[in-house]
Amino acid sequence: MKNILIVGGGFGGLVTAENLADSLGKDAHITVVAPNETFTFYPSLVELAFGACEPEDISFDLRSKLKEMDVRFVRGKVTSINTRRRSAEVAGADFRGEIAYDYLVAAPGRRLATEKITGFFKYAHHLLGTSAALKFGEAVDNFKQGTIVVGLCPGGRLPVPVCETAFALSRKFDSKIREGKIVVKVIFPESLQEAFGGADLYKELEAAFRSHNIQVLYGVPINEITEHEILSGKKHRIHYDLQMLVPPFGGQRLIDQSGITDEDDFIRVDANMRVQGLENTYAVGDIVAFTGPKFAHMAVRQATVAAENIVSEINGNEPAAEYYHEINTIIDSGDADTIHLRYGIWDDTNFSLRRGTLWSWAKSVHAKFWKAKHN
Ligand SMILES: Cc1cc2nc3c(=O)[nH]c(=O)nc-3n(C[C@H](O)[C@H](O)[C@H](O)COP(=O)(O)OP(=O)(O)OC[C@H]3O[C@@H](n4cnc5c(N)ncnc54)[C@H](O)[C@@H]3O)c2cc1C
Repeated sequence: MKNILIVGGGFGGLVTAENLADSLGKDAHITVVAPNETFTFYPSLVELAFGACEPEDISFDLRSKLKEMDVRFVRGKVTSINTRRRSAEVAGADFRGEIAYDYLVAAPGRRLATEKITGFFKYAHHLLGTSAALKFGEAVDNFKQGTIVVGLCPGGRLPVPVCETAFALSRKFDSKIREGKIVVKVIFPESLQEAFGGADLYKELEAAFRSHNIQVLYGVPINEITEHEILSGKKHRIHYDLQMLVPPFGGQRLIDQSGITDEDDFIRVDANMRVQGLENTYAVGDIVAFTGPKFAHMAVRQATVAAENIVSEINGNEPAAEYYHEINTIIDSGDADTIHLRYGIWDDTNFSLRRGTLWSWAKSVHAKFWKAKHN
């Protein structure tokens, strides 16, 4: 009987557990370790901030979901992984000590590297969690007049909620924007193309921003936030009365081997999702060192590949399933400017871009379907 340890209970961890439980049933002991008992559907955090849903609509109880699948849940944080002994050190409410494994899947998501931006912790709003989204939503509700800036910090890797927040602000404050009482600005550290992993959606997205009276600034690598200004490494000083910024992302150094992570601590994996240079070790989701933005749909497909390969290995076969790195996302403007983008990041192929209200509807149906399936 093999012990499989999954670090993290987000999109990557949950979908890996589901696929392994489906394929292996009682032939394996599967354990998920995560610090929270609640799964949060992050793509709905913009809706939460703007009052379109409640926290309970976008979350569910992870422990009971895993129990239904016969997967053990341990509430805690993995603090280190000893690859020679194949064991993980866990500190948490349920358990404190070592958990041994035969196979490991690292899916701890991203770390918010707020320390890279002076003043971020003190002054910035962000959307990277339920309470942060609610806090930003409250600030939006109380906002009467002035400049609102939303943007990506260098290394933020999450362009969709930045765009969707700008669109939501433009819908909410439509008449005040027309009267000139409120200005909405969106800023990117480089070009739009770079923010979206090389996809050429500049014309369409910029037209959508224009038709919503949103001002766009490119090439603003934010490096400092003060009480009323956003400063960049290129000497910009941008005044704000309210802002929402995605901070730089980083990985976590959990695994004891050197050379397996890049300079931002993201884990290097091959196309089979195996951690490079380590046996029986996989990584999926935001923690992996793939280029371009990070998306839940990538975490889900990576988890499916990793689970299939672990099952192959357990059955004595070589891992054969391969992951293809593509963006397949909807940037929801809430109207006919909504964009569906598909783009193969690794080989610059499979580009398709469609627009229309249908995609706004499709995003909300997909979110409802995902939540219903997993709740
Ligand atoms: C506001 C917002 C909007 C988004 N919109 C979209 C969208 O429209 N479309 C899209 O595809 N994606 C979107 N995303 C991105 C998507 O949510 C992420 O790509 C996805 O959550 C990554 O999944 P993951 O499993 O790697 O990480 P997460 O979902 O972050 O899960 C990580 C898990 O690991 C746990 N963990 C962390 N450290 C440890 C540790 N040391 N030990 C044990 N457990 C640990 C965490 O508690 C959590 O359970 C959005 C994200 C945000 C924040």
